[in-house]
Amino acid sequence: MDRSANAAGVLEHSDTGAQENRVVTEEEWLQKWEMRNIGFHKEQGHPLLQKYLDVLLGGRSGLRIFFPLCGKAVDMKRLADMGHHVVGVEVSEQALKEFFAEHSLPYSEEPVPEIPGAKKLQSTSGNISLYCCSIYDLSSSVVGKFDGFWDRGALVAVNPCDRQRYASLMITLMEQNSSYLLVTVSYDPTKHKGPPFYVPESEINSLFVAARMFGLAKDFLSLMLCQGGGEAGRKQRQDT
Ligand code: SAH
Repeated sequence: MDRSANAAGVLEHSDTGAQENRVVTEEEWLQKWEMRNIGFHKEQGHPLLQKYLDVLLGGRSGLRIFFPLCGKAVDMKRLADMGHHVVGVEVSEQALKEFFAEHSLPYSEEPVPEIPGAKKLQSTSGNISLYCCSIYDLSSSVVGKFDGFWDRGALVAVNPCDRQRYASLMITLMEQNSSYLLVTVSYDPTKHKGPPFYVPESEINSLFVAARMFGLAKDFLSLMLCQGGGEAGRKQRQDT
């Protein structure tokens, strides 16, 4: 038996062994962008962000919202247009340049003194700042802390061996009472090598336990999609 139902009633696959040691290098990601192998990109934005926007924003305005491993997600533009300040990080400069070009947004480029080789691409209006570097080079002293997180194609794209490091970093970037929307995918990990990787709900719980312990993420919404794209499970915690 390699499957059991979790608290949200979703089948959990426990045989994640085939994916555990898989590593996708930054070079391979850059190649995906060069070869246009970017099936993950959603031209129209993500329907779950639309659906759960209220959870992310919680009625607040002028938020700082973080898009880890942002690609050229069009939702960054949408949230910036709503008056929020968007910060993203992405290893592919091509992705970031495509983002600004596709939205006809003028931007400027500057080095990031704290991170050798990194660049910050910032919209001229100032409300979209995209860092071109590895997520692991960032820290709150460089990017500050955030009120909201949109984690789609991010935790699931991180190499399984780096998940703990990634989650710990996210926790250090959380403002008190922040909201975190996480989208994962549900499928049999013995059938597909990833990414996206399969991250069981039980692992999500332990990765982000500190966020709840310290009352950082007031709203932590974990959304699991099944292969066809429908919502397979949803778990929301409100720790006040
Ligand atoms: N979140 C985006 C992109 C998902 S694909 C979306 O929803 O469309 C994952 C992205 O992470 C790719 O664009 C890849 O280039 C980027 N990436 C992979 N490893 C990274 C790292 N260590 N640091 C920053 N970006 C990374």
